[in-house]
Amino acid sequence: MNPSFTYSYNCKKKVTNKMVKCECPSCFFEFELDDGTIEGEVIPCPDCVVDLEIVKIEGDVATAQVAEMSEEDWGE
Ligand SMILES: [Zn+2]
Repeated sequence: MNPSFTYSYNCKKKVTNKMVKCECPSCFFEFELDDGTIEGEVIPCPDCVVDLEIVKIEGDVATAQVAEMSEEDWGE
């Protein structure tokens, strides 16, 4: 296996250097995601500091939902 494959993959992600906008569903503050933010990542809202999970990134718009870290209802 060529180790440079992984490297070029990371590179490709970096070349996509565009601002992704996201709106906080809690306070409706619109902000830009850090470069390299991926779906599934949990980030704090810059305004109300609630934990936001990035559920979807489409083009330059990301969809976030409030991450509920304290509640875990995985099985009954
Ligand atoms: Zn917020």
